[in-house]
Amino acid sequence: MTFYCSNYYGSIQCQTTVTRFGDRCKLCTVMRVGSSISDGLLPDSMVHTAADAARSAEIEKFRRETESAIRKEVRMAK
Ligand SMILES: [Zn+2]
Repeated sequence: MTFYCSNYYGSIQCQTTVTRFGDRCKLCTVMRVGSSISDGLLPDSMVHTAADAARSAEIEKFRRETESAIRKEVRMAK
């Protein structure tokens, strides 16, 4: 699966393809042109795809709901 460089969606319209959505192509990265969609949110080594970000938000929501459910049960047991 390939996607256009994130600069394709910006003013540069770079048409180089990348393997992860939201990434800049190597050329734009080296030239420091534009920015990847994930830039500034996470260090480069931890950059997630947009799909991953959505998934981890779901997981986080589920985790919080589970935690509060457990807390409620503990309160009722007392
Ligand atoms: Zn590019």
